[in-house]
Amino acid sequence: MEVYNEIAILQNRLSSLFSTGQQIGFVPTMGALHQGHLALVKEALAENDCVVCSIFVNPTQFDNAEDLLKYPRLEVQDLELLTEVGCQMVFMPSAQEMYPEGFKVEHYEFGSLQQVMEGASRPGHFDGVATVVRKLFDAVKPHRAYFGKKDYQQLLIIKAMVHQMQLPIEIVPCETFRETDGLAMSSRNLRLSANERTLAPVIYQILQEASTMAARWNTLQLKQWVQKQLDRYPSMELVYFEIANPEDLSLTLDASPSKNQMGFIVVKIGGVRLIDNILL
Ligand code: AMP
Repeated sequence: MEVYNEIAILQNRLSSLFSTGQQIGFVPTMGALHQGHLALVKEALAENDCVVCSIFVNPTQFDNAEDLLKYPRLEVQDLELLTEVGCQMVFMPSAQEMYPEGFKVEHYEFGSLQQVMEGASRPGHFDGVATVVRKLFDAVKPHRAYFGKKDYQQLLIIKAMVHQMQLPIEIVPCETFRETDGLAMSSRNLRLSANERTLAPVIYQILQEASTMAARWNTLQLKQWVQKQLDRYPSMELVYFEIANPEDLSLTLDASPSKNQMGFIVVKIGGVRLIDNILL
């Protein structure tokens, strides 16, 4: 597997692939890779001639300094896992390479898409995400890029960015990969204590129960029920539970949720912020 740290050298290598008409798949990540990330890489491998995976813990998308500091970094293991699945290239830039001195985070207008849930809860987060993904797209110029539905709002933001900037890149959504107990795989799961890890599957259990009750209850009742469930666990704090339209993320505030809407949840366990969602 080829490893690159500099944009110019990566682009030089990729230009030889472009000239022979090869299709490039791209999987951007922040590392501490798990089977969810690798599922994206495998899907990309099946649909492209060459797959580039990036590993970059992007400082501009963190609104919380402690979260950035404590974000797991497992580069040696990441490279081993990517080699095992057959990924051809890894791009691991330094912060200096991505953000040379004087560089400013770009400001995007995604309208209501960025005003709810993660956008409301983490100011500046999506400007940071869109800025780094645009720069990575510019470096790799992939034909297809793969994103997980676990970070559903991020997926829609990236689609909107690609549309706004008229980038010739197909955005491929990938299903959420879960542990056998239902917990959505996440690099942040590594930060959970053993006790917190045993509690964490409750998040998806609550989502599943809420989705079965959505046919009978209105959104307000569902939200109260979700809050009540989490109140039973003092170490878990509900940041939000929302029902939204999967197309534009417009929130259902009190009416009964209709089929095909989605439930979105964020829970903090001992300072670790976990995100998940479900189709109702
Ligand atoms: P991250 O390293 O957390 O920034 O994630 C990199 C990419 O992997 C994003 O597109 C995520 O949505 C995706 N991803 C993370 N966890 C999962 C998962 N459990 N299942 C599927 N995709 C995931």
